Amino acid sequence: MSAIGWYNGTLGKPDEMTVPMNDRAVYFGDGCYEACVAFGTRVFALEAHFDRFFNSLRALEIPFRTDRAALKAILTDCLKAANEPCAVLYWQASRATAPRTHAFPEGGEPNLLVTVTPKTLLPPERTLRLVTTEDVRYAMCNVKTLNLIPNILANEHAKRSGADEAVFVRDGLVTEGSHTNVYILKDGVLYTHPADNRILPGVTRRILLGLCREIGVPVAERAFTGDELIKADEVLITSSTLGVRRAETVDGVPVGGRAETIFNRIASAYERIFSKEMRA
Ligand code: PLP
Repeated sequence: MSAIGWYNGTLGKPDEMTVPMNDRAVYFGDGCYEACVAFGTRVFALEAHFDRFFNSLRALEIPFRTDRAALKAILTDCLKAANEPCAVLYWQASRATAPRTHAFPEGGEPNLLVTVTPKTLLPPERTLRLVTTEDVRYAMCNVKTLNLIPNILANEHAKRSGADEAVFVRDGLVTEGSHTNVYILKDGVLYTHPADNRILPGVTRRILLGLCREIGVPVAERAFTGDELIKADEVLITSSTLGVRRAETVDGVPVGGRAETIFNRIASAYERIFSKEMRA
């Protein structure tokens, strides 16, 4: 098993590939990205990831000229080269390569970087330990930019605390995780923060909310407090690489375990969609 990298048309090993110093991703994190799960050349929810990627490009005003079909062809070539049964497919576009000035440079073409990294998915029954941390991020969390310092610090804090994920709390309200979306089940209703500029609109979130509506689990896109998180019937975490998970503790306190049947219905519905798309 070995990872592969691709940068503006050159394929190689990520450890050996180089990127020009003046790629604005280096100085500014001036770009956006996506990460998905792939089985061979099959990518889960690729179109939804494309939707979000092109939204991010528009928000950042990056004049990325590669269209969906051409991007898909590049990504498929990378997946073929990697030939992995299960991998994380990551790609990022940066604005340009140009001397460092804050304003957009004149001319200059966007750069595309792709990696395919072998991945072993966690077993479905694996529950997560969470820690809460203050959400100190800015007001553009809905755009999947390369600027992830608060997320990195929060995730490192989780790791040092012996937990799996950090949950951001802003003004007493739970927003999302360092690289996940967060939900609670309470009295049969699934609550999650509205998809505004304080959270990333997760692809898994989008699929999950659609599924809940289909299987008759009421959804309320309304923020909940840290206290409601602790007292929830279940706490749920989602992301492309984790799928749908239950949390077992928050800040070391046991949580959930009171709506397992509903959780299992939601998780099985998601698993069915995932398996169908990846094996079709
Ligand atoms: N929120 C943040 C901050 C993330 O970085 C991610 C994924 O990277 C998510 C939520 C989950 O999004 P998705 O379900 O699209 O993986």
